[in-house]
Amino acid sequence: MSRRTPAIRRPHSPLPAPNLPPFGHFIDGAFSAGSGTETLSVENPATQTVVTEVVAGTSADVDAAVTAARHALPAWAATTPKHRSDMLLRIADTIEAHHETLEQLEAANTGKPDPVSADDIASAIDTFRFSAGAARTLTSLAAGDYAEGHTSMILREPVGVIGVITPWNYPLLMAAWKIAPILAAGNTLVLKPSEDTPLTTLKLAELIAEILPAGVFNVVTGTGSVVGQAISEHPGVDLVALTGSVGSGHKVAAAAATTLKRVHLELGGKAPVVVFDDADLEAVAQGVRNAGFWNSGQECGAACRVLVHESVADELTELLVREVADMTLGGPGTGDDTEIGPMISRNHFRRVQEVLRRVADEGLDIAIGGSAVAETGYFIEPTVVTNVPAGSWITQHEVFGPVISVETFSTSEEAVERANETPYGLAASVWTRDAARSLTVPRQLDFGTVWVNSHLTLACEVPWGGFKGSGYGRDLSLYSLEDFSRTKHVMMHHGS
Ligand code: NAD
Repeated sequence: MSRRTPAIRRPHSPLPAPNLPPFGHFIDGAFSAGSGTETLSVENPATQTVVTEVVAGTSADVDAAVTAARHALPAWAATTPKHRSDMLLRIADTIEAHHETLEQLEAANTGKPDPVSADDIASAIDTFRFSAGAARTLTSLAAGDYAEGHTSMILREPVGVIGVITPWNYPLLMAAWKIAPILAAGNTLVLKPSEDTPLTTLKLAELIAEILPAGVFNVVTGTGSVVGQAISEHPGVDLVALTGSVGSGHKVAAAAATTLKRVHLELGGKAPVVVFDDADLEAVAQGVRNAGFWNSGQECGAACRVLVHESVADELTELLVREVADMTLGGPGTGDDTEIGPMISRNHFRRVQEVLRRVADEGLDIAIGGSAVAETGYFIEPTVVTNVPAGSWITQHEVFGPVISVETFSTSEEAVERANETPYGLAASVWTRDAARSLTVPRQLDFGTVWVNSHLTLACEVPWGGFKGSGYGRDLSLYSLEDFSRTKHVMMHHGS
């Protein structure tokens, strides 16, 4: 039951028209309409207005992009790490110089409140700067004499042409997480942005056209079932990297298996927030406010599943409701303190509404929120669902919206067992003041990232990626450069 119906903040003055990228795919250093005849509408979900149209690519367009990337590969792979590092620094500088354009474009395409768009673009810049440095740490090894009369060299090489498929929740940032390490390691790439959010990726292509040689970076827009599928099964692609849902992960891995190409998957999550009875509950409530509702909960590591010790559950629920009651909703241009934007699309909006209906049908308690906001834009009230029994649907499924659930546990063993009983394994957090527990519990949790007394804090130096149904492979950190490079052994016989 909703305690209030929050009003959507609206911009005080009309927003500037976004500076749109050129129309078409970006292949071999130039924009072109490609071979398709259809277009896809790009909508602003905060206003439900069409921003522009992009081309719906075909497998022939993917073929042209892969050919360009293959052609560009030998020269790019032969550049020095310093050269690639310099190029990545120039890309970072260009993004920084055009950050306002990119923020406006991201906001117009996703409806994100300004602080979220600004954070996305700043993080993308940092990703390119980190990878520029990381490019220069990739070292081959002149190794010793492991076999009599022989000397070994262990070389790090690019994997080749990499296919990248990105989601809509952080359009430019998720692209940057792939593009930067892929280029740093000497690969070329063909990227398909989400059909919902292609604009900043195309703008990036326009901005860096002057920096990179033609064919090193290519973009083909279109749907997953056509363009994504064609990339995944193309024999000229050596590795396909997807950030997306588990369902798309299955399809990409199956298509990639036909050519035995490498696969790198960053998929969904259902992050437990394990709160022990000695935790700082005020800090937990603020942490869940920030990390559960960041990007309107459309975040794979969102702090969306609170598992709290039964003795402090009521107190924590009260604090959470207090935090959530204070949250503001709105789209771009509504102020630096607007926290919750719209769902990305009509389809996704309906999906989250479906989840809320399911929660109500199951008779779970809704402490606050629980409905869509009856105004223009795909806005959902920030929602806290309480008294959730173990094994409920909402504890096992990613909502990808501003909805968090609260369950209780009575022992540490039960907390760990329940936190792990999910098909996902992306991220989790543990909240405690007990030093021993803060060391032991993270080791018992089956997640690729575990925070202690924090949630969703990231840095380029540390790896990001999942276990189990959340996929395999790592973004960020030197591990991502490892994933996008291959190891070759050269053994020389010198006879003595
Ligand atoms: P999605 O799987 O629907 O789409 C992601 C991309 O895959 C899109 O570009 C889409 O066109 C493409 N795609 C769809 N079907 C395909 C197919 N058959 N073959 C090839 N490509 C295909 O996901 P989404 O709705 O855009 O994004 C939300 C999902 O992404 C959530 O599950 C979220 O958890 C996940 N995500 C994960 C991370 C992470 O780092 N682990 C980060 C962001 C988002």
